[in-house]
Amino acid sequence: MSKSVILTGIRSNEEPTLGNYLGAFVPMVQMQKEYAGDYQINMFVPDLHSFTTPIDHSGLYRNTLNNLKYFVAAGLDLKNPHTFIYRQSYIPAHSELTWILDCFTYVGEMSRMTQFKEKSGEHNDSVTMGLFNYPVLMAADILLYNAKHIPVGEDQFQHIEITRDIATRFNNKFGDIFTIPEATQQQTSFMKRDAGLRIRSLTDPTKKMSKSSTDEKSKILLIDDPEVARKKIMSATTDSIGVINFDWEAQPGITSLLQIKAHLSGKSQDEVNAQWVGTTKYGEFKAAVADEVATFLMDFQARLASITDDQLLYKLEASEQEMRRIAGETLLRAQIAVGLRSKEK
Ligand code: ATP
Ligand code: MG
Repeated sequence: MSKSVILTGIRSNEEPTLGNYLGAFVPMVQMQKEYAGDYQINMFVPDLHSFTTPIDHSGLYRNTLNNLKYFVAAGLDLKNPHTFIYRQSYIPAHSELTWILDCFTYVGEMSRMTQFKEKSGEHNDSVTMGLFNYPVLMAADILLYNAKHIPVGEDQFQHIEITRDIATRFNNKFGDIFTIPEATQQQTSFMKRDAGLRIRSLTDPTKKMSKSSTDEKSKILLIDDPEVARKKIMSATTDSIGVINFDWEAQPGITSLLQIKAHLSGKSQDEVNAQWVGTTKYGEFKAAVADEVATFLMDFQARLASITDDQLLYKLEASEQEMRRIAGETLLRAQIAVGLRSKEK
């Protein structure tokens, strides 16, 4: 019997950040621990998504493998037979289904995507069709594997909703072709979180931390020298109110550091707040967060260094073969639906 699928991925355009670690790697690893056996886990690198904005292509192949290593360093168990790791471009059905879905997706709805609006603003001299089409490729990533649970950060919620819209529209027209992924509220409760997680930029805490940001001080990279990371935390933007409060509106900078402290230490937000909120110890608190981050990076990087290409490639190739089979079955259903293939066996 086929298992319910949990799916997540991370683009290999730039070095991943602490935001990616807490928003994507950690929940996936926790899910593997908690649900292995009951669910199938698809952990992939959307390498085709990686150059919707300009990148240095000479590093793409290597970065793709490295990103998979990050998952392993975050605790993903490669021996688990219900876990699959794969590269999007090694399964051609992703591109093929995208084209079919494109023809059932409206320019109007795509134009409303926040990520497109934000990123096309940043790269306004080179807004590509790839950037515009990003959510449709993401819909194909999800629908090909009949995935219901997509543990992602809050920034991707709109793309999950559009996936549901496209799939529902297609099913209404052609019958029961796609599994509809769960709505974002259910995704959040599946991850056992009250709300989507959004780690903020260290220099502008009203924005999220993003790996493609050109402001190096805004982000902690997982490969940052721990001492460099420590300095980034010490110089993170806070406020001049003088008292530490957990308040996203009035004090987003210090609130963001409280959030990072809780997530990295494994303590609850309430526990961390109980120690620092109401005090005036900005410097002492920042130093405690900086220590937490530096220690985390040292441990993480030691784990990363111990993972070999061979370990990874063995699992990758086996997974990709199985994924081509599953994705091919879904693609064929869609091809039959739109009349590209015969209904008769
Ligand atoms: P980019 O700037 O290239 O878009 P990104 O940092 O936003 O990079 P993505 O590859 O778009 O990373 O997203 C990978 C995963 O990391 C997704 O699940 C996304 O929700 C999650 N994620 C990204 N940024 C954050 C953040 N600041 N806080 C929590 N989760 C995040
Ligand atoms: Mg992003």
